[in-house]
Amino acid sequence: APAPITTDVLIVGAGPVGLFQVFELGLLELQAHVVDALPQAGGQCIELYPEKPIYDIPGLAEVSGRELTQRLLRQCAPFKPGLHLDQLVTQVRPREDGRFDVETSAGTRFDAGALVLAAGAGAFLPRELRLTGIEHLAPGQLHQRRLPQPLPDDLDGQHVIVLGDEDDALTQACDLADDGRCARVTLLHRRDQFRASDALQARLAAARGAGRLHFVAAQPLALHTTDDGRRLQALQVIDADDQETRLEAQRLIPLLGLSPRLGPLADWGLALQRKLLPVDTARYETAHPGIHAVGDINTYPGKRKLLLCGFHEATLAAFAIAERLRPDQRILLQYTTTSPRLHELLGVR
Ligand code: FAD
Repeated sequence: APAPITTDVLIVGAGPVGLFQVFELGLLELQAHVVDALPQAGGQCIELYPEKPIYDIPGLAEVSGRELTQRLLRQCAPFKPGLHLDQLVTQVRPREDGRFDVETSAGTRFDAGALVLAAGAGAFLPRELRLTGIEHLAPGQLHQRRLPQPLPDDLDGQHVIVLGDEDDALTQACDLADDGRCARVTLLHRRDQFRASDALQARLAAARGAGRLHFVAAQPLALHTTDDGRRLQALQVIDADDQETRLEAQRLIPLLGLSPRLGPLADWGLALQRKLLPVDTARYETAHPGIHAVGDINTYPGKRKLLLCGFHEATLAAFAIAERLRPDQRILLQYTTTSPRLHELLGVR
């Protein structure tokens, strides 16, 4: 296994607050690595409302979720954070020397002096298709993510059902339909209305019109399999009028969007209060020394889940971490406007 990455601070979550945490730590000359389950930074801002304007960021009268993310990335860029995306922080082990061993689902390991949990409502993970017996299917029949490119070579003559109504689902269904090897490509969604982009809906309409793709407005109900439960034969579905249909299928591709799940964070031995981490309001530290929590994941008297509050929390957490990692030093407050040292760090003059 590759050696662990040694860092001052490991941040769990590249949402807006995790990104600002990088900046505040950087001003105090602390290096940070950030891990996120999503393939891109920005957390809720990018996943839930990229195009919606936010009106309550101080000094920015109006900014979209996407633009705020871009601005935060630009702001923390001088500190060159290690961004480790598309992976889940799965393990956190406090060590006797006060540092932490951290591991991700991609096998990335860290040796960190402090942890900041900026985990929001949890990791954004694919919403799973829950049907009795689905875990017994032999590999290759259920894809919780888009099929890899190029498409697998065993599609010939298969009945494939793609489930979902977002961009990924429509893209996958249309790609399979255009590929032409499947015997039948079906897109399944509870109603004939989609959240995907207009362009993809046009592509879907064209494929449906040409008979390359079938659409069924219904919800999955049960699996039909061989007696041993290993081979998928069909999917039982139910429509809005409670009519049930059996759709032949050898492959299921649920692309049901992402939803935040606390996941592994609940197993790290931290005391959670209604899925939130209680912290003090001077250091934003959990009951475990060296593990801080900022943004939507924390709770304290008067807590409000607002970006502005998360940014403040990240600022004070950074000072507390600097005190922890440099106990012999007085941590000075310097202004970004006037400090030559900060200008040097920021690469500005
Ligand atoms: P998040 O944005 O939730 O980011 C957390 C990140 O951590 C996620 O990307 C997640 O994948 C990752 N993560 C969690 N656990 C793990 C793990 N174990 N491994 C890897 N990654 C992990 N706030 C305002 O102030 N003003 C507004 O106008 C406003 N409008 C909003 C509109 C909507 C529709 C919504 C949903 C929220 C709005 N908010 C607004 C709230 C604001 O978006 C949140 O307060 C903010 O996103 C919290 O940031 P965060 O960094 O704490 O968490």
